[in-house]
Amino acid sequence: TRIRPSNKRCAVIGGSGFLGRHLVERLVDRGYAVAVFDIRQSYELPGVTFYQGDLCDKHALLVALKDVSIVFHCASPAPASDDRALFQRVNIDGTRTVIQACHEAGVQKLVLTSSASVVFEGTDIKNAKEDLPYAKRPIDYYTETKIQQEKMVLEACSKENDFLTVAIRPHGIFGPRDPQLVPILVDAARRGKMKFIIGDGCNLVDFTYVENVVHGHILAAERLKTDSPLCAQAYHITNDEPVRF
Ligand code: NAD
Repeated sequence: TRIRPSNKRCAVIGGSGFLGRHLVERLVDRGYAVAVFDIRQSYELPGVTFYQGDLCDKHALLVALKDVSIVFHCASPAPASDDRALFQRVNIDGTRTVIQACHEAGVQKLVLTSSASVVFEGTDIKNAKEDLPYAKRPIDYYTETKIQQEKMVLEACSKENDFLTVAIRPHGIFGPRDPQLVPILVDAARRGKMKFIIGDGCNLVDFTYVENVVHGHILAAERLKTDSPLCAQAYHITNDEPVRF
């Protein structure tokens, strides 16, 4: 028999990262006890317990997932690392390990941070719905592993086993403490690399404020129930109205 963990306990895998830390802060505000599981610890916060470990290590994960009912998985190697073996090991094999650990720990809900790139074929998409097929030719290997990761998590959704899953697909995330997007743009501008327009200047790209991405994750987790349409679904997340919980 599975032990029923208390509802207000959740874990954030990758909780030391840019998105993960914002998510942890909002979860604490909402009264959750939070376990952070990450290969590094980058801060301290009351109400948060840190577990340092690699998500490919099931035994290390099981310690952090004890009594947890909701798991947010927002860990990934940086896309810029361009390390195929690492993407395969962490995003594919590691996600399989996360799912197994969730089963063994009696976790009820798993919310995955996916990416809008999983449907991107290299040409502009306007007003995309979630029924677009996965990209047949993903833009890079990182995205290929994000596709496989998302499929794996959504296929693991099982009402019979009381294990529900959902995926959130942001594109470029910006906001306080952003280590990548804005710093890279500013650096490129400083080095005079922003003087050229590629294409006709009308290319589209979607950026989402980090608090909106966090809002999407928490809503998804709280609305995910056995009879809800969220089960095994992926949701694009973008900016619209300011965030109001
Ligand atoms: P980030 O690099 O700031 O955070 C990722 C965290 O994962 C880091 O703290 C890192 O230490 C941890 N991590 C990496 N490998 C690990 C492992 N093997 N075991 C345990 N922890 C590990 O990245 P982020 O920008 O916060 O991205 C979070 C998620 O959002 C990722 O899944 C990423 O694919 C997705 N995403 C990000 C963006 C963006 O613009 N930042 C856009 C779309 C999707």
